[in-house]
Amino acid sequence: MNTPAPPTPSIIAPWTVAPAEAPPTVEEGSFAAVVVPAKPERIFHYRVPSALAGSVQPGMRVRVPFGPRSLDGYVVQLLDRSDVETVKPLTAVLDAEPILGPSILALTRWMAEYYLAPWGKVLAAAVPAGLKVGAEKRVILTDAGRAVDEAGVRGAVQRRILAALRSHPGPITLARLAKRAGSIAGLPALLDRGWVTEAPTAPGPTPRLRPYVSLVDAGLLPSGTGPRGPLQRAVLEALAVRHGAFVSDLGLGAGAACRALASRGVVTMSLREPACDPYGRVSESTPAPVLTADQGSAVSTLVDALSRRRFAPYLLWGVTGSGKTEVYLQAMASALAMGRGCLLLVPEIGLTGQIVQQVRARFGDEVAVLHSGLSSRERFAAWTRIRRGQAHVALGTRSALWAPLPNVGLIVVDEEQDASYKQEDGVRYHARDSAVVLGSQAGAVVVLGSATPSLESYANAVAGRYGLLRLPDRVESRSLPTVRLVGLGAGPDGGDVLSPELHAGIDARLVRGEQVLLLLNRRGYAPVVVCRDCGVAARCPQCSVGLTYHRERGKLCCHYCGFSIAPKDRCEGCGGHRITLRGVGTEQVEERLRAAWPSARVARMDRDTTQSRLAHDGLLDAMRRGDTDILVGTQMIAKGHDLPNVTLVGIINADVGLSLPDFRATERVFQLLAQAAGRSGRGERPGEVIVQTRRPTHEAFLFAQRHDVAGFYEQELLRRRELGYPPYGRLAIVLMTGIDERRVIDAAAAAASAGAELAADGVSLLGPAPAPLWRLKGRHRWQLILKGPRGPAVRDAAHSLVTTLRAGRLPRGVTVDLNVDPHHVL
Ligand code: ADP
Ligand code: ZN
Repeated sequence: MNTPAPPTPSIIAPWTVAPAEAPPTVEEGSFAAVVVPAKPERIFHYRVPSALAGSVQPGMRVRVPFGPRSLDGYVVQLLDRSDVETVKPLTAVLDAEPILGPSILALTRWMAEYYLAPWGKVLAAAVPAGLKVGAEKRVILTDAGRAVDEAGVRGAVQRRILAALRSHPGPITLARLAKRAGSIAGLPALLDRGWVTEAPTAPGPTPRLRPYVSLVDAGLLPSGTGPRGPLQRAVLEALAVRHGAFVSDLGLGAGAACRALASRGVVTMSLREPACDPYGRVSESTPAPVLTADQGSAVSTLVDALSRRRFAPYLLWGVTGSGKTEVYLQAMASALAMGRGCLLLVPEIGLTGQIVQQVRARFGDEVAVLHSGLSSRERFAAWTRIRRGQAHVALGTRSALWAPLPNVGLIVVDEEQDASYKQEDGVRYHARDSAVVLGSQAGAVVVLGSATPSLESYANAVAGRYGLLRLPDRVESRSLPTVRLVGLGAGPDGGDVLSPELHAGIDARLVRGEQVLLLLNRRGYAPVVVCRDCGVAARCPQCSVGLTYHRERGKLCCHYCGFSIAPKDRCEGCGGHRITLRGVGTEQVEERLRAAWPSARVARMDRDTTQSRLAHDGLLDAMRRGDTDILVGTQMIAKGHDLPNVTLVGIINADVGLSLPDFRATERVFQLLAQAAGRSGRGERPGEVIVQTRRPTHEAFLFAQRHDVAGFYEQELLRRRELGYPPYGRLAIVLMTGIDERRVIDAAAAAASAGAELAADGVSLLGPAPAPLWRLKGRHRWQLILKGPRGPAVRDAAHSLVTTLRAGRLPRGVTVDLNVDPHHVL
């Protein structure tokens, strides 16, 4: 559309909606502060025309004039005065009742201010796709438009649009109209003349039938119909657990595999409307167990807090297997009985199927599940059930924070230390921290649960800012596993994958019919592919990292950008033939296990084997049924699974991640180790953990060996205090990226000089320097870290730095990104 840039209408600063000190008013009456996602940087004022007075409320979608165009936005506040000079009237109200309640408005506004993100961007992330403004803008011909004599209309494009609309009964989306008419450049003129009008937006995405595949009864299969190739085998394995599934849930390439299987009569295919909730199956309800004394006192503290109906944050610090879930469930039951809603956040839904099932078993249809794996229709349906008060329990990953629970009384964040709560692109918010804020705004009880809390939450609990609920023992007096530290050999290929100790431990478990988990936080076959003649390793052309060899795919792959390439038999640098693999990944561990124990049933769980939505469940179900003897995997296997027959957990190489240039590196290694160890001995038989490391005297391992979480934390807190890192200091990262390295460096220099003027108020600047990951997806990355003892000062400095940079001195093609409270500094 070749229209002149719209005159900027009513602007006020993004972080100040209603100026506290009343400005000189120009107009009085009724005004709406509107956030327009298409122009997210500002909040605009519009007059509410008298015809619409009374029908506009905060949280409704409205249509507003914007230059020559109309845009949709959210009313965030009603005002009775506006300091803006010429306030235009809004043109339409799109909702009969607010779709965003006051608590979502308050929370998203806080997030916008705290994370220094435009409010419109936060709202766009918070609202499910089916309700997004402008998502499905459609137009329709008016009676006047139908009566027009097309030949007399000036402008070929306008004539084509009219013709296209005439041949199309009913509303048509702009995208489709553009396709049919070739262009929609003439549309504003037609809208202005009243020949075309915008059709009301559809209430949500329309149902779509999707291909569904089910297994033919194995007894009826003709012979010779077994799977061909790994994809077909994966499909059949997934179906063996489920019987039937949507093809789209089975992962990439499943469609072709299913069709091939169907053509041989192994499976049948049909079209079905997807269920609105893939976790919708309500499992058998299980009676609540008699609480242990510690569980009982935790629950009664929470119930007391709930009955006071005031904000009260708690850290539920319970060792692995201490029954934290039961505490959540009983506190939730009380909240529901008091007529209040519950929000339960979990790190990753595929890995927490168990908690979903437990919650569904206890609360049935009260539960709505929200997570990023849902289709927009599923998400919209779950969201609607919550908003209409049909479901009072919202369960999901970090974005479930925005569930429209009308009266939230209890907020639970399980595994609160988990890194996945921090969103690392777009609006870079932390869901745990935002959940605490939501609790304070809503007067809710907040429970952060973990066996290995984040240092931040631990420090808050020690300082008395959070109540501390402790579950120091496993239920039914089960003991914590014994932890043995075993030195890893230092050979060129990373030493032995299996030390004699681990080998013997696995032997013993297989003989006794017990199960083994093996953790190696590195997927693929070998992490380093190197030429022995010139010593050069294969590297990603787009990122500053090496390529990992994946034997199953037969490719060298980048784990950051997805780049892959077939392995070459000659070195690109020197032409040498002696290309070798170094180091070990999960694929190779699996191979070595199969070689060492040919009759053992070995499975692997990492991002490569869990492409499909149901794969996690399938692998864990097989463990639970006893169909797998040894499960090897990345950190995925360490999450909260309860697998009672696992009596040995082996950490193949505990040092992975220890030397990352990140202040949280040690904390993360410790937490992963403790989480993994927590999978051992959860049933009646005692458990063992074998930790292979090249640094057996590292304090993180020594503390983990003694199960001394507090000891480790006290030590680590001392270090953080010395260096001014969280929780004693606050960080914000200003990240500059661009294709052209020179320009990124120029931007970094500009940032350095702009930053120097700001470095006051105890805020210090580190850098600018290339980020540890200094190139990603073809973009160079330089960063400036702001650090200081006071969060607001750090954020103010970061904000003015970014504003200064964006206001002018930034070279072309360079983007500045701001990350408040970064989880890591990579
Ligand atoms: P955590 O999350 O603390 O690691 P879970 O919540 O998974 O522990 O509980 C561990 C196991 O103990 C589960 O199988 C759970 O059903 C069981 N459990 C929880 N509370 C009790 C109780 N009071 N009595 C008996 N078993 C319990
Ligand atoms: Zn890459």
